[in-house]
Amino acid sequence: MKRISKSEIATFGENTRLVIGGREPSDYHGFVNPPVYHGSTVLAPTVKDLLGHTQRYAYGRRGTPTSDAFDEAMRALDGSAGVVTCPSGLSAVSTALLSCLSAGDHLLMVDTTYLPTRNFCDRVLTRLNIETTYYDPLVGAGIEQLLRPNTRAVYLEAPGSQSFEMQDIPAIAGIAHKHGATVLLDNTWATPLFFDAFGHGVDLSIQAGTKYIVGHSDAMFGVVSASRKAWPALKAYYGDSGLCVGPDDIFLAMRGLRTLGVRLRQHQDSALRVARWLASRPEVQHVLHPALDSDPGHAIWKRDFKGSSGLFSIILQPAPDAAVAAFLDELKFFGLGYSWGGYESLAIPFDCKEYRTATDWNPGGPGVRLHVGLEDVADLIADLDAGLARFRALSVP
Ligand SMILES: *Cc1c(COP(=O)(O)O)cnc(C)c1O
Repeated sequence: MKRISKSEIATFGENTRLVIGGREPSDYHGFVNPPVYHGSTVLAPTVKDLLGHTQRYAYGRRGTPTSDAFDEAMRALDGSAGVVTCPSGLSAVSTALLSCLSAGDHLLMVDTTYLPTRNFCDRVLTRLNIETTYYDPLVGAGIEQLLRPNTRAVYLEAPGSQSFEMQDIPAIAGIAHKHGATVLLDNTWATPLFFDAFGHGVDLSIQAGTKYIVGHSDAMFGVVSASRKAWPALKAYYGDSGLCVGPDDIFLAMRGLRTLGVRLRQHQDSALRVARWLASRPEVQHVLHPALDSDPGHAIWKRDFKGSSGLFSIILQPAPDAAVAAFLDELKFFGLGYSWGGYESLAIPFDCKEYRTATDWNPGGPGVRLHVGLEDVADLIADLDAGLARFRALSVP
C-alpha cells in the first residue's frame, strides 16, 4: 500500500477520511489498527536526550502514539488545527471554557445548553469570578445587544438540549468575532459529519465522544477541536490542567470513529421514519426535530447542516404523569436511561421548566426525548404504538 500524506488526506471524502485517518499499518508490521500503548514513564537513552526533550514522547500524560493516532484521525475528519481528548464530554466542555476565560470575563451561554454545562457555569465559573448571561437560542443577530466590553466567549449548542431549537450559528459567530470573543459550540448532536463547525465560524468545537464517536455505550469520552486561532490557548490549558484519557478508552473511541458515517446515516434515516410516524399520531402534539419541514428551526437546519442524528423529542397531549409512565415503563426496545448515541434506542421523560432562565418552557404537555437506535424501524414503531395505547388509556379525556 502506498503511504498517504496528511495533506492529501484532506482531499478525500469524509468516509474515506474516517477509515484512513490516524493510521499507517506499515509502521506497525502491517496490522490494520495502531497498537494501544499503556504507559507513564518514557525512557531516554542519555541525560542529554532526557533534559533536551529530544524524543517525540516524554511522559504518558503528555501524549502517546495512541492519543496521537486519535487526534490525527479526528483532525482528518473535522479539519481543525488541533484536538485534545478528555475523560468525558462534560470535561471537554469545562476544558474548552477554561481555555479561553479568566477572572473578570463575561460569558454568553445559550439557555438551551446541556444542563451539566449550565451547572458548571453557575457553580464553578461563578466561583472564579466569571459571569454568565444566558440568552435565547433564537437570538440570532440580536446577540449584539448582549455583548459587553468584557464578553470573552459566546457558547452555542444546536439543536438545543431536550427542546431542539436551532441557532443561527454564522450570524452569532460573525458578531462575536467582531467583538473579539471566542465562539464555542457543543456539536455532539450533529458530529463533524453533519455540521462543519469550523466552516461556520466556530473556534472551539466540543464533542461528547461518549455519544456517537464511541457509539456503543461502553466508554466515557470527550473531544475539543480548535481553530488555528484558538489552538495555542487550548493546548496550553490542556497541558497545565493534567487531563489525559486512558489508552483503552481512546482505542474504543477510535474504533467507533471508523464506523461513524454508516451508523449516523442509519440513525438519521430510522429517526426520521419514527419521527414522521409520531407526527401523525393523535397522542402527539409536536415532534421537535429540525429535519422535519414543520419544525420552526427547519430552514436554518437545511441551510447549515448536512444531516440529522437519532435524537429528538416529542410533546404529548396533556396527561397525568401516570400515563407517561405507562407509555415508557413497558417499552421493549427503548431503554430508560440517560446518555445516547449508542446502537440502542432510549427514552426519557423531560421538563425544562425548572432550569431555563432566559426563555419560558411551556409546551402544553409532557415531553419525552427519544434516541432511535439501530434496531428495525418496524419493531420500534410497534413498540411505540403499544406504548401510546397505554398512554391513551390513562389520559384524561
Ligand atoms: C452527554 C452530553 C454531554 C456530556 O457528555 P458526558 O460524556 O456524559 O460527560 C455534553 N453535551 C451534550 C450535548 C451531551 O449530550
